Amino acid sequence: MTQASLMRGVIISGTGGVWRVRTEQGDTIDASMRGRLKKSNAGRRADGSLRRDTVLAASKTPKLAVGDDVLLEEGERGGAWAIAEILPRRSKLARREPGGGQGERIVAANVDQVVVMFAAAKPEPHRRMLDRFLVIAESNDLTPRIVINKVDLVGEAAARERFQAYERVGYAVYYTSVKDGRALDELRSALGGRRSVVTGPSGVGKSSLLNALFPGSNLRVGAISESVNKGRHTTVGAAMLPLLSEDNGYVIDTPGLREIGLWSLPGGQLDRCFPEIRAVRDQCRFADCRHISEPDCAVTTAVRGGAIDAERYDSYVRLLAELDGDA
Ligand code: GDP
Ligand code: ZN
Repeated sequence: MTQASLMRGVIISGTGGVWRVRTEQGDTIDASMRGRLKKSNAGRRADGSLRRDTVLAASKTPKLAVGDDVLLEEGERGGAWAIAEILPRRSKLARREPGGGQGERIVAANVDQVVVMFAAAKPEPHRRMLDRFLVIAESNDLTPRIVINKVDLVGEAAARERFQAYERVGYAVYYTSVKDGRALDELRSALGGRRSVVTGPSGVGKSSLLNALFPGSNLRVGAISESVNKGRHTTVGAAMLPLLSEDNGYVIDTPGLREIGLWSLPGGQLDRCFPEIRAVRDQCRFADCRHISEPDCAVTTAVRGGAIDAERYDSYVRLLAELDGDA
């Protein structure tokens, strides 16, 4: 077979055996993993082409995940496609395996940012859940962005007031309305050229918003939550909806992200996942301060002084208790 028959694509869903791949040309095809898989960069000639002699045993290759960039080759007799190579991952959204082991489960590969979406009303926003999503993003070193949709229902001033604590922390917050089109241009450019995990409770307008941002994506209203539910009982647990523009955008449903949970994030690392706590924690008297009842704690001092938002701190305390309960 000639090198020219290798085609690049990205994994958009899969149940383990057969993977759905979106090719560079924009086609969606099904492909299975080739028995023996070439290693990422090793086995390439200087010009980037593949060397036939460097193959890795399948057991040594990384497990495939939604979001992985792959090279496909046509099967021997034509027709079927096989995944010949997984290209290097630049980031991942993962959860550690429970029990404190070394293993981790990759929920999605090559994620650039996590867009956490809530509605200003209908359904009522849930700040504790928002904080949980933010911690998941932070613990994976992914940049979170916050979208507050349906601002038309409460007015922008009220929405801004409610979420100003997040702007103070330094998060980008977009106050959008699919109904009147507010802030959609801003958000579109924040999503452009990046791969985003878009998450949030159902009913906040994720499908509506993505359709408005990327007309032609043709997501049915409610489609995102559905796509998630389908993948739910598989080991993959994630599905990606490719958006209509070049190289960006995939969407992981809410249950998918919630399942990642905070599993096995050591309690001592939770403070790093709150930027405003991270900023002052070095000033605590004890290096291993948990910022609960320790003396000379810079965090509780900042909470009392109003520099750290009390509700955010409350989320920290509850999540810490949850993580300690896990251990
Ligand atoms: P998803 O479950 O997050 O994908 O939410 P959907 O896109 O299915 O939207 C849920 C409902 O909210 C639908 O009835 C939408 O028409 C409505 N909706 C979406 N965005 C807005 C908005 O900005 N303002 C208002 N008032 N309603 C919206
Ligand atoms: Zn402290």
